[in-house]
Amino acid sequence: MKRIGFIGLGTMGKPMAANLLRKGYPVTVYNRSSGKTDELAELGAEVAGTIADAVRESEVIFTMLSDDAALLDVFHSEHGILSAVQPGQTIIDSSTVAPATSRRLFEELANHFVDFLDAPVTGSKPAAEAGTLTFMVGGSEDVFRDHYELFLALGSKVLYLGPSGSGSYAKLAHNTMVGINALSLMEGLSIATKAGINPEHFLEIVQSGGAASKQVDLKGMKIVNRDFSNQFSVKLMLKDLLLATDLTKQFQLPAPMLHNAVTLFQMGLAKGFGEEDLSSVIRCYEEWMGREVAKHTVPTPQIAEEAAVLSGRERRRAERVSLNIKLHLSVYQWEQEGSFSGQNIEGTLRDLSESGLQISSSFPLAKDMFVVIHFPQEADLPPITGRIVRIEAGQDEFRYGCMLSGLPPYVRIKLEQYIESRR
Ligand code: NAP
Repeated sequence: MKRIGFIGLGTMGKPMAANLLRKGYPVTVYNRSSGKTDELAELGAEVAGTIADAVRESEVIFTMLSDDAALLDVFHSEHGILSAVQPGQTIIDSSTVAPATSRRLFEELANHFVDFLDAPVTGSKPAAEAGTLTFMVGGSEDVFRDHYELFLALGSKVLYLGPSGSGSYAKLAHNTMVGINALSLMEGLSIATKAGINPEHFLEIVQSGGAASKQVDLKGMKIVNRDFSNQFSVKLMLKDLLLATDLTKQFQLPAPMLHNAVTLFQMGLAKGFGEEDLSSVIRCYEEWMGREVAKHTVPTPQIAEEAAVLSGRERRRAERVSLNIKLHLSVYQWEQEGSFSGQNIEGTLRDLSESGLQISSSFPLAKDMFVVIHFPQEADLPPITGRIVRIEAGQDEFRYGCMLSGLPPYVRIKLEQYIESRR
């Protein structure tokens, strides 16, 4: 049996290496940080002290690394792959990286008479453990055929797609769909939950209807059980979507859904969920709807209404603690023939509502005036434009309902965080 080297024993690499060992292959493993090799050593793996040692021991070397930078580092570092390769070896990279990186390594290795296949996978941690991954392979077809049995030891579907880089192209197109699909599940679940529908019942309906998908299988109950343990992290999902964005730019191909998916996973990252499973982005939606998607939500909207525990945001609204944040306002009023006049006044931010802000000022304003709101410097917020939609006259000041539209979601999150910090 071929002697295998395995470099990168993360969420995916470790179970893949374990499967090769279970199928009887002699495997030498290497991981940058220690601790991840222990279980594999118990299964019979040799543990190499350096990347170069793992390469010298092996005929075929698998790499399963986070991203382009990690892969290039493992190839080019002082004791890296290129320092130790010998003619006749084959390197199979299963990381998700840019097709240009796959082609670059193919060419660099060809100079050493070493073969290279880009062979990224689909199927998350459970498929890596079960040996049911799908491989999409680019490179020489002959080399692919020579190593077919290795792919079958790790996966249940293996497809040769074409010259070097083809596997990576297919993987990025595929993961664009994964990201969008996962978000569509989160959006559907949010709507159903907000309506008081039991999310488990909703998932049952989805899986037997037109919206059924692998993502619903993989992430649906994970969300309902609030298990955000990592199978495929927010950070890696975002990495793939950004690589796919690069491709759409190269191809001059508009991809509006990909663009939105990038924004949502960036929000997840900004909220600190980078290392958690991509399903944790549901918590952005939960914040917007003021409710958790959790197991055993009461089954009817009426009961849900009575039993609902108020979320932080709902409680805030119920208590209506008035704020006192000083603002500068630039007020604009449309004049005839499309021109408008403006002036600067002082105001106070009193509260945040679903659709806008409540501000007060001693200065009289009229409905439909536009107001550019300048927050204190400490808020680190851009100026925000609103329209006066409601006016209440008090004893010595006016209260204005100011509708915000077109506010980018990440600005809204920052605004909410700022207001929360000032209560
Ligand atoms: P992971 O758990 O983060 O593991 C990444 C591995 O890369 C670890 O072994 C890490 O070593 C190593 N690494 C990172 N930077 C390195 C460097 N500079 N030098 C040496 N080693 C380095 O990631 P994963 O979930 O296994 O994913 C691996 C690849 O497969 C990614 O490209 C991902 O997009 C792709 N993929 C993932 C899934 C999934 O569901 N997870 C599915 C399909 C494809 P340390 O242990 O020292 O950090």
